[in-house]
Amino acid sequence: IKYFSFPGELLMRMLQMLVLPLIVSSLITGMASLDGRASGKMGMRAVVYYMVTTIIAVFIGILMVIIIHPGKGSKDKLHREGRIEQVQTTDAFMDLVRNMFPPNLVEACFKQYKTQYSTRVFTRTILHSSNVTAGVTTTQIPAPENSTGILENITHALGTVSEVLTFEEVIPIPGSANGVNALGLVVFSMCFGLVIGSMKQKGRALREFFNCLNEAIMRLVAIIIWYAPVGIMFLIAGKILEMDDLAVMGGQLGMYTLTVIVGLLIHALCILPLLYFIVTHRNPWAFIAGLLQALITALGTSSSSATLPITFRCLEENNGVDRRITRFVLPVGATINMDGTALYEALAAIFIAQVNNYELDFGQIITISITATAASIGAAGIPQAGLVTMVIVLTSVGLPTEDITLIIAVDWFLDRLRTTTNVLGDSLGAGIVEHLSRHELDAQDCELGNSVIEEK
Ligand code: ASP
Repeated sequence: IKYFSFPGELLMRMLQMLVLPLIVSSLITGMASLDGRASGKMGMRAVVYYMVTTIIAVFIGILMVIIIHPGKGSKDKLHREGRIEQVQTTDAFMDLVRNMFPPNLVEACFKQYKTQYSTRVFTRTILHSSNVTAGVTTTQIPAPENSTGILENITHALGTVSEVLTFEEVIPIPGSANGVNALGLVVFSMCFGLVIGSMKQKGRALREFFNCLNEAIMRLVAIIIWYAPVGIMFLIAGKILEMDDLAVMGGQLGMYTLTVIVGLLIHALCILPLLYFIVTHRNPWAFIAGLLQALITALGTSSSSATLPITFRCLEENNGVDRRITRFVLPVGATINMDGTALYEALAAIFIAQVNNYELDFGQIITISITATAASIGAAGIPQAGLVTMVIVLTSVGLPTEDITLIIAVDWFLDRLRTTTNVLGDSLGAGIVEHLSRHELDAQDCELGNSVIEEK
């Protein structure tokens, strides 16, 4: 497996290598090339599209899991492994906002902010003094380092220990986690691009620099694209060799997998193409055919960020989407618009409730929809990020976070499918925003044409 996956691993590394400069340079040039009003309008359209499609995806996920009800039966049939730390919903939301404003841009290239949790163990001792119970003396002793020593002293002084209870407390402490803070870089690049765009003549050197950087990165992408089919083949082949965990896909977990697949298929093959058709009156299948390489790369890499370079190429070269749109809409979409992830998070949380025979009321289902949307925004475009942010959804309605371990076995597979849905959602979104923004783009072309004539 190690040797067989190696060519695939190389592709993954090459794509990841380009993601950072690509996100930064394309967003800066994208924002700088649009005037403030045009980019505001386009931004609004993109955000409305992201929100609408994400909410529809969450709704489909909830509908599917309620109709198919994959969690029927007792919870003992599923195996659990590992332990997931406790996370508070408010901390997770605050981390999301904190990540938008990285205090150090260089650090943001490899570190995200994530509240860490530490476990404090307390020991509660109930003491008996000779034969009279001296009430209950409770001592809280941070363990494990000094608990035994103190306990011995107390025992010596007061009598015999009749009962020792230890309990854990989970405390949040500030911290940082590994992984690119794409959200922070997106926010910075957008603001920076807007500013140098408004600087007219003074900002010209910077605009040209980032333009040129963007062009150079796209040329590197063109080279990597030659290697991509080989890399993807090995990525998938390596995973197939590892596939002994497919055996667990029986019973409830099998039904759960099926439910996620049906939900993703409905969203990716019915809702999104229909939306594209309604807005643009163009054939969505011709558009999707042009995206095939990006979709297969998403399937192979499980990462919408790593797929980003290929998505750019497919949209610009095959589907002829305006670069002013792709540069701006794609990096933001790959970071915050994840329909597949949102659908999966809502569905998985309700599945966990079903497995625990926990009846969710309407209010809790609404809470799940809201937190699943937030969790999909917060998830980075990297493999299995959705599994981690699902903690927010579970804690919001008091479901046991350690039950995430129930679905870990099939997540590698579902992750590929939801990543493909995410990439499709971003790409169709670029097509839709371009169609709706035709007017502004044409006006800008006209203005540019006029200024060239004036200069001449
Ligand atoms: N792997 C997904 C992506 O890159 C995120 C997730 O885990 O849902 O889009």
